[in-house]
Amino acid sequence: MEKTPAGRFAKIIVDISRESLDKAFDYHVPDTLSGKVVPGVQVTVPFGKGRRTVDGFVIALTDTPSFDPSRIRDILAVKENSVAMEGRLISLAAWMKNRYGGSFNQALKTVLPVKKKVKPVEKKTVVLCVSKEAAVQMLEIFDRKKNKARVRLMSALLQEPQIPYEFVTGKLSVTPASMKKMEEMGLIRIESKEVYRTPLQGNAGRKKSFTLTEEQQAVVDGIRRDEAQAAATSQVFLIHGVTGSGKTEVYMELIAGQVRQGKQCIMLIPEIALTYQTVMRFYSRFGSRISILHSKLSAGERYDQYLRAKRGEIDIMIGPRSALFTPFPNLGLIIIDEEHEPSYQSETVPRYDAREAAIQMGKMAGADVVLGSATPSLESYYAALQGRYHLYKLPHRVHGQKMASVQVVDLREEMEEGNRSPFSRVLQQGIARRLERGEQVMLFLNRRGMAGFLSCRSCGHVIKCPHCDISLSVHRDGKMVCHYCGYEAPLVHKCPSCGSPDIGQFRAGTQKMEELVKKKFPKARVLRMDADTTREKGGHEKILAAFASQEADILIGTQMIVKGHDFPNVTLVGVLAADLSLNVPDYTAAERTFQLLTQAAGRAGRGYKKGEVIIQTYQPDHFAIEDAAAQDYRKFYDEEIQYRSILHYPPVYHLMEFQASSSSQEMAEAYIKRIRRLLDKSRAPVMEKVEAIGPSPAPVAKVKDIYRQRIYLKSKEEDALIAVKDAIELYYSRHPQFAAVSIQFYLR
Ligand code: ADP
Ligand code: ZN
Ligand code: ZN
Repeated sequence: MEKTPAGRFAKIIVDISRESLDKAFDYHVPDTLSGKVVPGVQVTVPFGKGRRTVDGFVIALTDTPSFDPSRIRDILAVKENSVAMEGRLISLAAWMKNRYGGSFNQALKTVLPVKKKVKPVEKKTVVLCVSKEAAVQMLEIFDRKKNKARVRLMSALLQEPQIPYEFVTGKLSVTPASMKKMEEMGLIRIESKEVYRTPLQGNAGRKKSFTLTEEQQAVVDGIRRDEAQAAATSQVFLIHGVTGSGKTEVYMELIAGQVRQGKQCIMLIPEIALTYQTVMRFYSRFGSRISILHSKLSAGERYDQYLRAKRGEIDIMIGPRSALFTPFPNLGLIIIDEEHEPSYQSETVPRYDAREAAIQMGKMAGADVVLGSATPSLESYYAALQGRYHLYKLPHRVHGQKMASVQVVDLREEMEEGNRSPFSRVLQQGIARRLERGEQVMLFLNRRGMAGFLSCRSCGHVIKCPHCDISLSVHRDGKMVCHYCGYEAPLVHKCPSCGSPDIGQFRAGTQKMEELVKKKFPKARVLRMDADTTREKGGHEKILAAFASQEADILIGTQMIVKGHDFPNVTLVGVLAADLSLNVPDYTAAERTFQLLTQAAGRAGRGYKKGEVIIQTYQPDHFAIEDAAAQDYRKFYDEEIQYRSILHYPPVYHLMEFQASSSSQEMAEAYIKRIRRLLDKSRAPVMEKVEAIGPSPAPVAKVKDIYRQRIYLKSKEEDALIAVKDAIELYYSRHPQFAAVSIQFYLR
C-alpha cells in the first residue's frame, strides 16, 4: 500500500498588509518541493485572481485542508536562502498577535530576522606587540611628555591587548596618524579580521572570574535551588540589587552554569548600556562563544549572528530587545538587565513588552528568566510580592562603597531669596568646590517632560486633571487638556493655589543650561551630551570617552548620561529640575522620576571618593523625590502602588491604550467616537469588567500630519481587555469605510 506523504498541504500567511487577509491560506505542496516546505520557510504562491504572486510564511503542514482540495493551488517555489524559522518563534508570533494586536504577518516579521547575504566586512584590530613591562615603561614616558592620546591607547591596551580599531579612533579618540607613529615604533600592530566573529582572541575567555561575595553567592545558590525544585517548569526571578552591587557578576555566574550543562543564554540590555566595558567583561569571561547584536550591525551581520546561534557556534547572545528572537536550539536562560527600562517596549506594531515576551518564550522553551534592576518596575516588584516571581536582593555595593549622600533643594525658596537662575546656591558652591579640587561634576536635565505642563514658580503647584491626577497639557489653542480622559479647561493665568501670576510652562534645554554654566564658571571645561551633540555616529561614545579621560570638568546632559559608564572622579551629580519628569502626563511619571533620580545618584561616588547628589525641585515634599533622596525603594513602592490601586492603574489594574490614527482628523474622530458609543451600548458581559476612558487626543496629537486619538481601557482582568481588542479588530475588518484610519493597541 502506498503511503501518503505527511503534510501535503501548507498553511501560509501571505505577506500582504491588508488586515482582512490576515489569516492562514491553504496551499498544496507539489512533489518537487516536498521536504523543502517546512514550517518557517518563506515561499512564493499565486494569490487572488489573475497571475499575481506574493510571498508568504509557512506556519504549519497538514493533511486535511480546511478547504475543497480541488480548488487549492500549488506553492510555486521556496524562496532562495530561505531558512526554516523556529517553530517556537512562530508560536511566539501567534502569541504576540493575540496579545498585542496587529496582523500575524507583522508579528512574524518581528520575530524573524531579515534574511540578507552577509558581505564580509573587514574589521581592524589594534594589537599590543610588546611585553606588559615594556608597555608600562612607554606609558610612563608618554605620560611625562603629556602625550594624552598615546597614554589613552597604551593604558587601554594594558587592560586588553587587542582592541577594535573603531574603538581606538572613536571612544579613545586616537588619530590614525598617531597610531601609525606607534606602529612604526613597534609598539602596536593593526590587524584585519572579522571583528564580530572573533572579537578577541589571545587571552579572551581565560580570565579568572572574581570570587563572588557572600551576598552574590547567596543569590546564585538560591536561584539554582529554586530551579532544581521547579524541575522543568520555567521560573521567573527578580534581582533587586543597588547600583554597583555586582548584578552583572551574578548574571555571568548563572550563564556559566547553564553553558556547563550545554544550554544557551540570551541577555538583554538596553542599547544605551551596551558599553564597551560591559561587552569586554563578557568577552574576557566567555571568549568567542558569545555574540553581540547592536544597532550598528547591518541586516546581513545580524542575520549571520542568528545563523551562528542556530548552528550552535555560540552559547550567549547579548543585545537589545530583538536579541530575544535568537534561535538557540537549547535555550536555558534569558536575562533582562535594567528591566525597568522603557526601551524594552516596542514602539511599533506589535507593541510587545520584551519582558512579557521573554517570559512567554521561557515557558515555551522551558527556560528560566532573570530580571534585574536597581529600581525594579512596579509591575515586576508587584509580581514578585505576589509570589509569581522569586525575589532576590543585593542591598550592598561590592566594594562596600557608601551610596552617595543626597540633598534636596527647594527651588521655591531660591526664588524667594531672589535667585532666579536655574542653579541653586548650594549647587553653585558644590560645583565651585569640585572645580577647585579637580574633581568632576555631572549635571542632569531630564528632557522627557517637554509636553508643556503648567506650574507655579512661587508655590510649586502643578495643574492636574481632577479625574486622573495627571498634569494637564497646554495646547496651542489656549486650552489645558488631559491626555487620559480628554478633560479640558481654559488656560489659567494665576495660580489657583496661591494666586501668584508667576505661573507658566516649564521649559529648559540643555543648550541653554550649557550657556549659563559657562557664564557662571568661565574657567570650567564643559561638555554637553544630548540628542543634538550625539547625532553623528559614535558621538555618544566620543563624549563619554572625553569625559572619562578628564578632558572636561562638567558634563551636562539628558537621561543619556545617567547610564553605563563609571566615572570614578565624579563626586557631584546635580539634577537641575526633577519636576520635568515628575509632571509628564503619564501615570508612570513618579516611577520614572524615582528611577532616574536613583540612577543619577548611582553615578556619584563610584570611585573611592565619597559622592554627593543635589536634587533641585519645586516639589521637595513629593514622595518620589523624598524616597529617591533616602534611596528607599520599598517605601517608594508602597506609596506608589497605593496610588495605582486607587486610580486603577497598572500593575493593580490592566490598561490598554487603543489608538486610532488618520491623516484625516474628521475620520479619526468619527471612528473613535463610534467605537466609544459601541463600547457604551455593548451588552457583552465582558464590558461589565472594563472601564473605558476617553477618547482624548494623544499627547502630541498631531505628528507629521497624522491625527491620533485614544481610548483607554482598564480592567482587573487582562483577558477582558484582550476580548475587547478582538472585538474592535473584528469590527474594523468588517467596516472598510474606515480604511483611512489605522488602529493600534498597547497593553500595559
Ligand atoms: P551592577 O551590575 O550591580 O551595577 P557590577 O556587576 O557592574 O554591578 O559590579 C560593580 C563593580 O564591582 C564592577 O567593577 C565589578 O567588576 C566589581 N565586582 C563585582 N563582583 C565582584 C566580586 N565578587 N569581587 C570583586 N569585584 C567585583
Ligand atoms: Zn502658586
Ligand atoms: Zn483626566
